[in-house]
Amino acid sequence: MSTIAEIADLRAYYVTRAYGVERTVRAVEGVSLTIRRNEVFGIAGESGCGKSTLLKVILGLLPPALRIVSGSVVYHANGTALDLFALPEERRRQLRWQVVSYIPQGSMHALNPVRRIGDAFRDVIRAHRRVSVHEADGMARDYLANLGLPGKVLDSYPHQLSGGMRQRVTIALATILAPPLILADEPTTALDVVVQRGVLQFLEAIRQRQESTLVLVTHDMGVHANAADRVAVLYAGQVVEEAETPILFARPLHPYTRYLIQSLPRLDDRGERMSIPGRPPALDDPPAGCRFHPRCPHATARCRAAPPPLEEVEPRHRVACYLVSGGSDGSRA
Ligand code: SF4
Repeated sequence: MSTIAEIADLRAYYVTRAYGVERTVRAVEGVSLTIRRNEVFGIAGESGCGKSTLLKVILGLLPPALRIVSGSVVYHANGTALDLFALPEERRRQLRWQVVSYIPQGSMHALNPVRRIGDAFRDVIRAHRRVSVHEADGMARDYLANLGLPGKVLDSYPHQLSGGMRQRVTIALATILAPPLILADEPTTALDVVVQRGVLQFLEAIRQRQESTLVLVTHDMGVHANAADRVAVLYAGQVVEEAETPILFARPLHPYTRYLIQSLPRLDDRGERMSIPGRPPALDDPPAGCRFHPRCPHATARCRAAPPPLEEVEPRHRVACYLVSGGSDGSRA
């Protein structure tokens, strides 16, 4: 499977200054990922672990306080390698919606509450295609009909739609120009379980029809188990484990991943679920060494002294933990 996006040694920090004091939040710290064409790539982790920031950086949508300290994001689209941070903002803006699009957390954030849904479709289409208002409206109506959504939603305001319909409309808006890469940030979080399943099926049907790639960020390991082909687990801004989904769930190797999976409710087990001890660290002052060590029952002096490297411990399975990979000297903790 070929590559659609390559993220190499990415560091992105929020730098703020208040009352003369500078604060640096290391939200993304040395992340390298290869996203393959036509896959669903899941990014997992608790809230505050840097998932949403990572997605924004991959999108090239950088809030003023967010600095790219190092690393690169390269899209491979239409036979060309596009080095995102080397492009001027205007070119990056053109790529959004056409090459890469974004489904944000909560559809109310994506849709302007005082404008009809049809206006949002018209804006997106006309920003990227030389078409008349009439043609843009026709494109939107045809696309919604193709997806099985009623054309009358175009005349509605966001608050007039149910949460599930609003999220479907947001997904339709993000995919109307058939971008090869879709980034979705907790796309089903605010929805109840039944609606959630329908929205995920809707998104997957579009992805398959357009043969696109989906990067799916969610804290919900149950969603990853059902939807993702591969999953990367993020902790405190770093990838701690990455594997194909069946392998990750059958043989999680990082203690944090094991906690995430063990905290999932299971039909065949009515016992109490295990929660992860402690809290994620503040990213303006992360722990030295392995960032998980204050919460890890297996932590040793070595874990506190130096961060474990992310290493391939078996084919297509990378882990950053001294329990399973010894670092460059090959020794085991
Ligand atoms: Fe725990 Fe050490 Fe592994 Fe970190 S490197 S997860 S502290 S055993």
